[in-house]
Amino acid sequence: MDNKQAKRKKILSIVAPAYNESAGLDAFYSRLISSTKDLDLELEVIYVNDGSQDDTLELMSKQRSNDPRITIIDLSRNFGKEIALTAGLDHALGDAVVVIDTDLQDPPEVISEMVAKWLDGNDVVNAKRLKRRGESWFKKLTSYMYYRFLYQLSDIKIPKDTGDFRLLSRDALDALLKLREKHRYMKGLFAWVGYSQVEVTYERDERYAGDTKWGFWALVNLAFEGLTSFSVLPLRLASMVGVLSAFIALVFGTLIIIKKFLYGDPVAGYASLVVLITFIGGIQLLALGVIGEYLGRVFNETKNRPLYLVKDMQKSRYLSNQEDNKS
Ligand code: UDP
Ligand code: MG
Repeated sequence: MDNKQAKRKKILSIVAPAYNESAGLDAFYSRLISSTKDLDLELEVIYVNDGSQDDTLELMSKQRSNDPRITIIDLSRNFGKEIALTAGLDHALGDAVVVIDTDLQDPPEVISEMVAKWLDGNDVVNAKRLKRRGESWFKKLTSYMYYRFLYQLSDIKIPKDTGDFRLLSRDALDALLKLREKHRYMKGLFAWVGYSQVEVTYERDERYAGDTKWGFWALVNLAFEGLTSFSVLPLRLASMVGVLSAFIALVFGTLIIIKKFLYGDPVAGYASLVVLITFIGGIQLLALGVIGEYLGRVFNETKNRPLYLVKDMQKSRYLSNQEDNKS
């Protein structure tokens, strides 16, 4: 038995979340299979259907009927990519796991490079994008600035220009799965666990089909999520602005008093009063908003709801075998 276990081929799990991806899912599958077939590893594919309204689930089931290496996790509704990813990772059995988008923006061909780095003994292999094709200059620019901004602000070093596409060893994955917070900014969580991290680079392709699920506001929200999940700097900033404005008020007040005594100026102005009051009011509301943002997070974390609900699960042969062995 021991001998057999030592000889057992290592399993590579591919976790692929999909939300309304029916247009490209078959192309994804065939590219994934053809680009990993030469690896000396067993492949496990974990699809997470994140409440798709099109026939993504049917396509997955069809693929699975020909390929028992596929697990399908059908979530009860759309939970968003970060949670869908978590659901997939929770069920991965592999010795290593690769997280990849199903829209073919993360080229499956890079996986073999990642695996090579993993076999060299690295625990986390990040895929860093060199180029992003088919995205507007506005998205590229804001994303460029955001990653650098976040890098400066957050307490942990989140790799720049790196999406969710990466490989994790079993150790790194187990560490990651211990983090059960509700607000999941995956890029940050991946970085938080540490371990030996290396990079491979790739050019990000255009979406194979369909449209991005991230509208402008969804991205703004994600950006906030990243900031507030990994930094308390906004809170500190609020106090600093408070100190600063108190200081300005002190200087200004002193000036007025001096002017009054030296020149006998009448105390001037309704206008400056109004400006000052609204200015201070604005700053107070801003600070309150920042506090509220963090309070909201605390509120959400304390509710203790499960991260996601699984409506149905179609298990791969690995997963069914494992459960047979347990019982
Ligand atoms: N996705 C998901 N749930 C969502 C939104 C997206 O599972 O609520 C999946 C989507 O199917 C894709 C990946 O997450 O495989 C990345 O989404 P998208 O391509 O829309 O994001 P972008 O590449 O524009 O950042
Ligand atoms: Mg995409």
